[in-house]
Amino acid sequence: MDKRAFQFSPVQRYLDRIHEELLDRNDGAVADYIPELTRADPSWLGIAMVTVDGHVYQVGDSRQSFTIQSISKAITYGLALEDRGLDQVLSKVGVEPSGEAFNSISLEPGTGRPMNPMINAGAIATTGLIEGKPDTMPMQRILETFGRYTGRPMEIDETVYRSESDTGHRNRAIAHLLYGHGILDRAPEEVVDLYFRQCSILVTARDLAMMGACLANNGVNPVTGVVALQSRYVEKVLSVMSTCGMYDFSGGWIYNVGMPAKSGVGGGIMAVLPGQFGLGVFSPRLDAKGNSVRGIEACKRLSKDFSLHLFHVARSTSATVMRQVYDCSKRTSRRRRSAAELAVLAAQGHRIRVYELQGELLFGSAESVGVEILSELSVSDYLVIDLKRVIGTDRASILVLSELASRIATEGKHLFFTDCKNLYRFRKHLLGESVGPQGPGQEPGPLHFEDADHAVEWCENQLIAEAETTGSENAIGASVQDLGAQYLCSGMTRAELEELRASGEERTFPAGSRIFRAGDAAESMFFIFGGEVEVWIDSGSGHHLRLSTLGPGMVFGEVAFMNQKRRTANVSAATETQCLELRFESIREALRIKMLMNMASHFASKIERDTLLIQQLG
Ligand code: GLN
Repeated sequence: MDKRAFQFSPVQRYLDRIHEELLDRNDGAVADYIPELTRADPSWLGIAMVTVDGHVYQVGDSRQSFTIQSISKAITYGLALEDRGLDQVLSKVGVEPSGEAFNSISLEPGTGRPMNPMINAGAIATTGLIEGKPDTMPMQRILETFGRYTGRPMEIDETVYRSESDTGHRNRAIAHLLYGHGILDRAPEEVVDLYFRQCSILVTARDLAMMGACLANNGVNPVTGVVALQSRYVEKVLSVMSTCGMYDFSGGWIYNVGMPAKSGVGGGIMAVLPGQFGLGVFSPRLDAKGNSVRGIEACKRLSKDFSLHLFHVARSTSATVMRQVYDCSKRTSRRRRSAAELAVLAAQGHRIRVYELQGELLFGSAESVGVEILSELSVSDYLVIDLKRVIGTDRASILVLSELASRIATEGKHLFFTDCKNLYRFRKHLLGESVGPQGPGQEPGPLHFEDADHAVEWCENQLIAEAETTGSENAIGASVQDLGAQYLCSGMTRAELEELRASGEERTFPAGSRIFRAGDAAESMFFIFGGEVEVWIDSGSGHHLRLSTLGPGMVFGEVAFMNQKRRTANVSAATETQCLELRFESIREALRIKMLMNMASHFASKIERDTLLIQQLG
């Protein structure tokens, strides 16, 4: 994308502004209990944001590197979950906020289990759970994992590492205590060394934003597409970040800012707004609790100015996902119908209802859609739920919709979900449930039709077939040999009809064959006697888009009769089709005029119908 799009984006300008305003805040002090950290320039300030579609915004010292420190705890916690699974990790480290400082020795009385993985004790225990794989030392695995989050190879600041290792007696003591309680099963010296190294990984504010974006994006790096963390563990990591991520300021943080976050004494903060973005702020001056003063302020302002608090209530009801609802008494499928068929649909079409959904289906919106559909069930026998514009379904909405499908099947009614090729999990669930009848010889199942148009056509056919058995004369699929039934020939005498027939040529096209292609020279028209043809175009992306399906008694290729140019669409035989092909040049002047008049009045009423349709669409 054009770089200027970001440069001039309102988000970039907003970040530029808070960066400038925060430069004036000079309270707090650079951490000095790890001697090397005092070398940081207290005036550094970098802010970065990465959205779940991979847009990167950054300002100030966003590329200045510093050591990640405690922010690493969230990432190794995720890795430990992947290595050992939930139960084993929980048996070694709890998930309760301690309300105490990060270096407190908060161990559960009796078991010695650290309160949570975001304080040092819990983080050291977590690091102790990281497995070395054959040929890979645990540290290498930790670096590789961090690299998946940032999208670049990671390295350690050796000086900071040595500085902490030389002075980190308290952490060493914690590791020994954990070992004494059986929480660590590896040598405490080895584990605490790994922990010191992990805290000394060099990152930038941009890296932190990218890491946050991976968590916001359900574990997938939005820029590289690499899985940084298995999605099932993302919510676990975000949970401990929200309850324990900011040490003994965690309660105040979630109350005020409302985003899961993790801070480090290097001056970094990584914050996550699930589903939206990751934020990285770096400024080395810390408050008394060890959190970056300007980092907290930047997050507070952003959250307040844009109402980004996680618990800010966004409504999710049918109104947000129901694009439109219509029945088929006025708007039919693209299959062209005879007047008799149209009459059946005008009278009975209200029994087919089409629900067009859009956006993201979540529990709230799916539940609401379900209730709306069920409340109208007494008046409809055929339901088509068009999911073409649905971009995602969560587990709850999948369950609600499949429940709806089986409920409708037990009522003896028909429900089809269409255009859901991309909703993989939804399809998989429905196929697994095998909701409603399915399989050869039976009625089509809920996923049978690719698009709403074909599903609606099937439903219409049912209504028409039903009307036939109750006495209407115009049978679907029956052969119509009589040219007098063709609208183009209305008003012709018997002799004229015979003349036309004699000047045409009877042709049979096998099922699947192409009768003509878009672009071909147009020299004739075709009256259908039997079978069925499909008029279609290539929608550009290689998608076969049906314009209409025509049957006996109908004509195609007649438009060129007026302008005699080229074919504008493709026509293929859907089933074996018998036609009378009539070359334009073989039609005598008097008949030509009659046919053109018929065509003009046909188009006039078509325009009238289309106007009505556009009115409904609008
Ligand atoms: N390495 C640091 C320590 O253990 C990390 C602490 C922090 O960032 N809060 O003391």
